[in-house]
Amino acid sequence: MSSIYRIELMLETLFSSLPIADCATVVVPEATEQAMRYYKSGNVLWIVDQLWAFIVPLLFLVTGFTGKLGDLSARWSRKKWFFTICIYLILFTVIYQILNFPLSYYESYIRQHEYGLSTQTFSRWFGNYGKGVLVGLVASLLFVWIFYLLLKKSPRRWWFYSSLVSIALLFVMQFIQPIWIDPLFNRFGPMKNKELEGQILSLASRAGIDQGRVYEVDKSQDTNMLNAYVVGFGTTNRIVLWDTTIEKLTPDEILFVMGHEMGHYVLHHIWWGMFTSSLMIFAVFYLTFRSAKALMHRYHRKFGFEHLYQIASLPLLILLFGFYSLLFTPLDNYFSRQIEHNADTFGLEITQNNQAAGEAFVALQMQNLANPRPGPIFKFWRSTHPPLGERIDYSNTYCPWSEGGHLKYGKFFKSN
Ligand SMILES: [Zn+2]
Repeated sequence: MSSIYRIELMLETLFSSLPIADCATVVVPEATEQAMRYYKSGNVLWIVDQLWAFIVPLLFLVTGFTGKLGDLSARWSRKKWFFTICIYLILFTVIYQILNFPLSYYESYIRQHEYGLSTQTFSRWFGNYGKGVLVGLVASLLFVWIFYLLLKKSPRRWWFYSSLVSIALLFVMQFIQPIWIDPLFNRFGPMKNKELEGQILSLASRAGIDQGRVYEVDKSQDTNMLNAYVVGFGTTNRIVLWDTTIEKLTPDEILFVMGHEMGHYVLHHIWWGMFTSSLMIFAVFYLTFRSAKALMHRYHRKFGFEHLYQIASLPLLILLFGFYSLLFTPLDNYFSRQIEHNADTFGLEITQNNQAAGEAFVALQMQNLANPRPGPIFKFWRSTHPPLGERIDYSNTYCPWSEGGHLKYGKFFKSN
């Protein structure tokens, strides 16, 4: 057998073992050694985070410290119900944040710099961190009292009314986030590159999205990572593109990314997301309520408070709410992955540029240090998006239009 023939045979067996890729031929890159380190240490850190999120409220409870904090707040407020809650929330937030600070600092500042993902100065990081804590405190001062009022007025149906209130808050938060919250951290404006903006707006008008819904945000002062997202609802609903994405991707790749985001917008994924969150809120509140009652019955002496409607019960509610939310995370992720997959389909169908889609995913993988083929446990607990390897495989193989086939979302596309 001649050596040339042997090489030919080898190539033939090599290529015949690859999946059929007739829409594009983008190869999924091997995860770099650095990306694998980021992935593995990220998994360990995730477990530490989950444990820490239980340990902190547990410490408040088993030491009876929350009871003492509750008594102190009542003394300082001269037993005025509303002010007791406010004082407790302020003291609790300060202590809670001090306990959480080292982990947050390592995770979102040190580690991100170690891997070359962050571009933040320490002062900017610290400023944003502080703003985040303040926003959380203001939100808790505005709303936590409602849950405690409900606990007092309706001890049996508390979980039900609280779920309704939480769902209403979810909508309010979604509405105000792009106009009141996000601008505290970054600058949002129209796109700077006018040529690209023209292309994106013409794609948007094909998707039936009107002008003024596309924003650019200056994330390059925070990170090297790439992203785009849909946020808000009703009059505040919009698509936001990170400036890093504009900088690092080619115009065709950006158009695919925007096509994906337009899919979220047109297919009302924010509504679907809030609908599933609402169902989970009911379940989590109910389970929290049942176990809180049982635990109170047994351990209230140790905890240092008599009734669930006392603000000192907050760490108990946080602990249980966090625990049940974690149990529902895989379900939430599963739903999110379905939505993301549909947005990919929408993006592919509206741009019909599979090569650009695959290359955008490769850029995302390299730039964000992603593992394209994570293990099943990672996918189950942590993946809100299909793994990038799967998304590249899909963009290599999904192009029904090339054979005049049916488009899943064709009915949404308008002819320009
Ligand atoms: Zn998406």
